[in-house]
Amino acid sequence: MDLKTFIRDVPNFPIEGVIFKDITPLLCDPAAFDHAVASLEAYCRTRRPDVVVAIEARGYILAAPLALRLGAAFVPARKPGKLPWKTIREEYQLEYGVAALEMHEDAIAPGQRVVIVDDVIATGGTLRATRRLVERLGGEVVGMACLVELAFLNGRQALDGVELHAVLTY
Ligand code: AMP
Repeated sequence: MDLKTFIRDVPNFPIEGVIFKDITPLLCDPAAFDHAVASLEAYCRTRRPDVVVAIEARGYILAAPLALRLGAAFVPARKPGKLPWKTIREEYQLEYGVAALEMHEDAIAPGQRVVIVDDVIATGGTLRATRRLVERLGGEVVGMACLVELAFLNGRQALDGVELHAVLTY
């Protein structure tokens, strides 16, 4: 199955000059969605994670079924002000602007093996900030996985050697 046929390019969204990779056509097709999650699962299983950390918001859509298939905990990294308990925060650069993510300070136990999941890696800043959150809590980031890699933005260079599995590369 060619999953690229289910990814829609939306030019100049959310700002001029960005080609947004819209995954909603893939989510609308159960076979394509299943195929995408199975590809993420095949990689993540090799990393033997205790925890799947997912990045708001589209990361959750992929990571929730993934965590269930893996029998791993699901932990959300959320935009500021959304989590109700005590949080830690990391700020980072996005392809379009500055942003921050938070996690509950008790979301990960020291020594737990963590994979981080998102829909798209662009510059890698989001995954890098999430890795810092996990490591501040004592977790070990054993891998990262995303549906789409925008390889021309060299986001992998921001990951400091942590493995990244991308289902689709552009
Ligand atoms: P970055 O931190 O630059 O790797 O950006 C990755 C985050 O921004 C992910 O959470 C993506 O959902 C979102 N993102 C950045 N660029 C795009 C794009 N061209 N298409 C879709 N999502 C994007």
